Amino acid sequence: MIMNREEISVIVNSVFGVRPKDKQEEALEHLMKGGSGDLLLNLPVGYGKSLVYPAFPFLHASSSSLVIALLNIIQTEQLASLNLRSIPACKIAMSGNITCNFHATDMCSCGLQQIIDGDFKVIFCHPESLFSNSIGQALLLSSEFPSLVKAVFIDECHVFDKW
Ligand SMILES: [Zn+2]
Repeated sequence: MIMNREEISVIVNSVFGVRPKDKQEEALEHLMKGGSGDLLLNLPVGYGKSLVYPAFPFLHASSSSLVIALLNIIQTEQLASLNLRSIPACKIAMSGNITCNFHATDMCSCGLQQIIDGDFKVIFCHPESLFSNSIGQALLLSSEFPSLVKAVFIDECHVFDKW
């Protein structure tokens, strides 16, 4: 879908209460063009790279961002941060266990169906979360998954070659 930068800016502002910075807007514009063009977002610490993946699903109806994040601490921090903005998100542990950011951890019974139903704007996982357990594999093989996830984001991709 083609969306101009002003349209992107208005939607991001309505969700996050702030207009995107120039490079955030440019990244979202690039992603909205779709196609096979990958995007490498290399910006200074603190610029706000982490706005791009939760903003992206608000530009598409019924979509979720899949975020591959190496560190548990980053997943946990981002889940809490998104909770403060009332953005539903979840993480899939390496075991396949799914927890969301709006139920207490010991009260969360969210599962594969909630992900497939698009209940979460952002899905965090480790690479192993998708390939090393039956939940992740079922998600990858589900017919809904390709239409739900319009973009896969890899956090800290400079360490990708060490995975
Ligand atoms: Zn839950």
